[in-house]
Amino acid sequence: MTGNEAKSPQAAATVDVVIVGAGFAGLTAARALRRAGRTVAVLEADDRVGGRTKPATLDGETIDIGGQWVGPTQTHLLALAADYGVRAVPQYADGDNIIDIAGQRVRYQGEVPMLAPADLQEFAVAVATLEAAAAQVPVPNPWRAPEAAAWDAQTVESWLRANVPGEPARELFRALIRAVMSSEAADVSLLGLLAYMAAAGGLGTLIGTRGGAQDSLFEGSVWQIAARIADELGDAVVLGAPVTRIAQDEAGVTVASDRGLWRARRVIVTAPPALAARIAYSPPLPAQRDGLTQRMPMGSVIKVALAYERPFWREQGLSGLVISDRTEFGPWFDRCTPLTRGGALVGFFDGAPARRWADRPAAERRARVLDDLALYFGEEARRPVDYVEEVWTLAPHSRGGYVSVPVPGALTGFGPALREPVGRIHWAGTETADAWIGYIDGAIRSGERAAGEVGAGL
Ligand SMILES: Cc1cc2nc3c(=O)[nH]c(=O)nc-3n(C[C@H](O)[C@H](O)[C@H](O)COP(=O)(O)OP(=O)(O)OC[C@H]3O[C@@H](n4cnc5c(N)ncnc54)[C@H](O)[C@@H]3O)c2cc1C
Repeated sequence: MTGNEAKSPQAAATVDVVIVGAGFAGLTAARALRRAGRTVAVLEADDRVGGRTKPATLDGETIDIGGQWVGPTQTHLLALAADYGVRAVPQYADGDNIIDIAGQRVRYQGEVPMLAPADLQEFAVAVATLEAAAAQVPVPNPWRAPEAAAWDAQTVESWLRANVPGEPARELFRALIRAVMSSEAADVSLLGLLAYMAAAGGLGTLIGTRGGAQDSLFEGSVWQIAARIADELGDAVVLGAPVTRIAQDEAGVTVASDRGLWRARRVIVTAPPALAARIAYSPPLPAQRDGLTQRMPMGSVIKVALAYERPFWREQGLSGLVISDRTEFGPWFDRCTPLTRGGALVGFFDGAPARRWADRPAAERRARVLDDLALYFGEEARRPVDYVEEVWTLAPHSRGGYVSVPVPGALTGFGPALREPVGRIHWAGTETADAWIGYIDGAIRSGERAAGEVGAGL
C-alpha cells in the first residue's frame, strides 16, 4: 500500500492542499485537485486507505466489511467504479423476505415490509406524512425548511409517539431507522431524518433493494476503488499520519501529524465531525463549528459476514432478508456475488444492539449471531465455513458508522458550519454531501465539491 517515509518534524513539506483523511471523500478530492494540476498530500491516520470502507476475506473472496452497496441514483460512485472497471452486480432478492415485528412473523415478497392490515395502513400513512415533509426540505440546507424549527425540536421517537398510534408500526419504524442510520429513533432529530430522506430521494429508496440503496454490490469489493485511487496518487498518500494540529496564519497553514509537518495554502478536512473535533486548531474554531462537532455523534454498528457451503436459505424459498425486533443481530441479507464459492450472508448489529454487543467477547457475539440466524433459517445456519466481523463502534479513526447523526437542535442551531470554510480550512466527508448523505456516493460528491471550492481559491 502507498506510504511515505517519515518527514522530519523540522522540515515542513510544501504542497498546495493538504487533505485530512483517505476515505472516499479525501481520495476523490485529491484526485480532482491533482487532475487540475495542484500538488496535494493526503494524510491518513490509519494504516490503510478507505476509511469507512474496508476489505476482508471471507472464504477466499474479498468482500466489504464496511460500506458495500450502491443504488442506481448513486451516479458518482457508479461513474467512479466504471472508470476503474469495477463491476456492480445485483443484490440477490428472489424469494420471500421475513419480517418479525411486535410478535408478528410473516413471509412476504417485494420492497414494502409486511404487517397486519391495520398496522400496515398506519405505517403507510406515517411514511406518506414523512415523505411529504421531506419533500419540503432543501438539501443541502435543511435548516431552511419552512418547519425546520419544529422538526428539529423533536426526535424521530417523539414524532412516532405523537403520530403513530400502534406499537407494531412504531416498532417497524424503529427497526428501519436502525437499519438505515445505525441509530435509535430516540437519538435522531426528526429534521435530521427528513434531510437524510431528502438527500436519498425518499425512505423507499433508502430501504429498497431493487432500485434502492441496496440494489447492487461490487465484485471484489467497493474498497478496491479507493485502493486504486490511492495507487494513482502514489507518495502523496501518507498512512499512519493522524493529523493532530492545524495552524493557520496569514500566508498559509501548517498541518502537524505524527509523520511530520506539512505547509499548504488550503486544507480539506474529510474526517466526520466527531473525529475532526479531536484535532487542535489554531486559532480555535468558531463557536458554531465547534458546537456542531459536539452535536453529531456517530451511529453504532457492527458488521458481520458469514460463508456457508451453499446458500441453503434459497432452497427454503427465502431471499435471505430478515428484519426482526426479536433478535439483537439484524437485519441480514444474502451477499453472494458470482465470485462466492458457496453461500454468504451479511448483517448488522445496529444502534442499541451494537452498543450492547461491542464490548462483549467476539465468541459471545458469534454465538448470538448464529442463534439469531437459526431462529429463521434453521440449524444449518449454525454451521458457517467462515465468519468475519468488524466492530466499527470501536474503530479508533471512525468511532462508529455508518454516519454521524444530528441530535435535536444541531441542524437549526449549527448546520451552516457543516460546510462553511473556516479561513483556509474546508470541510468535506459524506456528512456534508448535497445528495446521498451518509453514503459512499455522498462522500465522493463532497470530495469533488471541496476540490472545486479550494481550486477556485488558490
Ligand atoms: C458498516 C458500514 C456499512 C456501510 N454500508 C454502506 C453501504 O452499503 N453503501 C454506502 O454507500 N455506504 C455505506 N456505509 C457508509 C460509507 O461507508 C461512508 O458514508 C463513506 O465511506 C464515508 O466516506 P468519507 O470519506 O466521508 O469518510 P471516511 O470513510 O470516514 O473517511 C475519513 C478518513 O479520515 C481519517 N481520519 C480521521 N481522523 C483523522 C485525523 N485526525 N488525521 C488523519 N486522518 C483522519 C479516517 O481514518 C478515515 O480514513 C457504511 C458504513 C459502515 C461503517
